[in-house]
Amino acid sequence: MTAPNDTLNRPLRDLRISVTDRCNFRCVYCMPKEVFGSEHAFLPKSEILSFEEITRLARVFAAEGIEKIRLTGGEPLVRNQIERLVEGLAGIPGIQDITLTTNASLLTLEKVRLLRSAGLDRVTISLDAIEDGSFRRINDVDYPVERVLEGIQAAAEGDLHPIKVNMVVQRGLNEDQILPMAEHFRGSGHILRFIEYMDVGNSNGWRMDDVVPAAEIRDTVASVWPLDPLDPHYTGEVANRYRYRDGGGEIGIISSVTEPFCGTCPRARLSAKGELFTCLFAARGHDLRPLLAEDSDEPLAERIRTIWGGRTDRYSELRSAETAAQRKVEMSHIGG
Ligand code: SAM
Ligand code: SF4
Ligand code: SF4
Repeated sequence: MTAPNDTLNRPLRDLRISVTDRCNFRCVYCMPKEVFGSEHAFLPKSEILSFEEITRLARVFAAEGIEKIRLTGGEPLVRNQIERLVEGLAGIPGIQDITLTTNASLLTLEKVRLLRSAGLDRVTISLDAIEDGSFRRINDVDYPVERVLEGIQAAAEGDLHPIKVNMVVQRGLNEDQILPMAEHFRGSGHILRFIEYMDVGNSNGWRMDDVVPAAEIRDTVASVWPLDPLDPHYTGEVANRYRYRDGGGEIGIISSVTEPFCGTCPRARLSAKGELFTCLFAARGHDLRPLLAEDSDEPLAERIRTIWGGRTDRYSELRSAETAAQRKVEMSHIGG
């Protein structure tokens, strides 16, 4: 049996799995140092799902309709031998696509080869600026751009194509990097995706004024390199796609704030400790962990069906100053 469509008739198709709440970066918009400092209590190892538990959960989700899995975090590559998890997930019937979002700091060619042969299909690499000083200020651990570019190169050499590069754009922080990033990745075969800065969690001090609207990002790029819109690959695709008219390749713009796409959202999220979130902006998750104590998978499957069937989430469509101030789960807890 597959899970019923939710109350807004959206099927359950994508699962984003956060494998850790830890990260070696402190991106100012995601894990600001003032909140995620040395005093911060990360999840103890005993509370984090094992690879076996994650694989079991993913198998049950696949039977309920999940076709795509994205591994995320925190930084997923800080989890030792994550390729072992990829291998387990790749063996699940019904899973057609396994991807991973990473800051690329630990993405060596050797790691890429291990991930690729375990069954990873693609990677998305986050990079918010191409100017070194700007990038170091954003990641806030003085990490150089060059090393991320090496990670991108390793992913390309190891055949994790097409590589997507995610840039979160924040007013006053890195909007000056829109054109330099476009210039750098034009013609590379990699797909640069600009993401509107979102009010995920409560620790980044988000304000609407900090958002650079998708239309402005598009016009900025198009003023230098004219763009033509492309059709989505599939219903529910988050990025609006454009191609450079001169043949320089493709970009994406993710307009989660100014043009929300909740109407087709098929995404569920699993936290590192086994909570199911039905929206990126949820205040709380549903703890699936106790059900892992059962020998049978049926109680888990039943719970997933009930939760998805009752899903009403459309946060981005309802966003306002009041909703932004509500308590929400942090991005590093459930991943992007
Ligand atoms: N550490 C990995 C990385 O950075 O790629 C994976 C986890 S990170 C939370 C996933 C994605 O979410 C990254 O591309 C990141 O830039 C994005 N992200 C984090 N906070 C965000 C925010 N407030 N608004 C928009 N995107 C955000
Ligand atoms: Fe870490 Fe990714 Fe968040 Fe940056 S965006 S702090 S790399 S989890
Ligand atoms: Fe999906 Fe929630 Fe984002 Fe809307 S706000 S697209 S329901 S995750």
